[in-house]
Amino acid sequence: TDFKSDKQPTWCPGCGDFGTMNGMMKALAETGNSPDDTFVVAGIGCSGKIGTYMHSYALHGVHGRALPVGIGVKMANPDLEVMVAGGDGDGYSIGAGHFIHAVRRNVDMSYVVMDNRIYGLTKGQASPTSREDFETSTSPDGPNQPPVNPKALALSAGATFIAQSFSSNSQRHAEIVRKAIEHDGFGFVNVYSPCVTFNDVDTYDYFRDSIVDLDETDHDSTDRDQAKDKIMESDKEYMGVLYQDENSVGFEEREGVEGSMAEIPDGAPDGATDLVREFY
Ligand code: SF4
Repeated sequence: TDFKSDKQPTWCPGCGDFGTMNGMMKALAETGNSPDDTFVVAGIGCSGKIGTYMHSYALHGVHGRALPVGIGVKMANPDLEVMVAGGDGDGYSIGAGHFIHAVRRNVDMSYVVMDNRIYGLTKGQASPTSREDFETSTSPDGPNQPPVNPKALALSAGATFIAQSFSSNSQRHAEIVRKAIEHDGFGFVNVYSPCVTFNDVDTYDYFRDSIVDLDETDHDSTDRDQAKDKIMESDKEYMGVLYQDENSVGFEEREGVEGSMAEIPDGAPDGATDLVREFY
């Protein structure tokens, strides 16, 4: 697509991040966006390289801090389509505080987390979503603590859109990311994106065998209680939109906020897009 850059990814062959990125590019194209109006902000980790491999405005930021940067971009130029990408280590450990506050602020943007339940770039340490008994170099007997449930964190912080997808299911993954982009507010998608090098537990086969597609159930994503029940089922791997508040209003559209965000400094080029283009 137009969103593919000419850089060759250095991800390991078979890494789930390939499928995650392809779905993001497809979803951006399908929602009528172009590289000219799209800004991808990434954190640090294998997932963090994504901004290099996508053709759009991009920033490869600081560990755990991609969300506040993305919010800043959106506030500076609300016309941009802002997509923040990261991994489970980046987003749910060092970035956990930002995650909660980004969720409750509900700025109109999307957040795609490549959740492989391991730190890949630093060669296989337990991450916030690693299983309690997952043996790694830093946890030879397992982390011995329950994994973070990012969907539950999001729901408790007042999320207006919570979804989960699987990188290998390309059609469904792109469709779920598209819904997050179209959502009026903060569209959060946790993507099972297997690390084929360091995680031999949460594999493609495991997800293929265990994932339940919410579209094949009678799940009502507008019902918060149903969403809560599904999200709290720790032994189930769901795919689809878990929760969506259809009355969501993005932060920048709220009364008292609207019109107060795009403060372009004196002497800046015409239009914030030009400003961003000059800057990067
Ligand atoms: Fe992907 Fe894991 Fe390789 Fe990183 S180490 S590129 S997450 S397979």
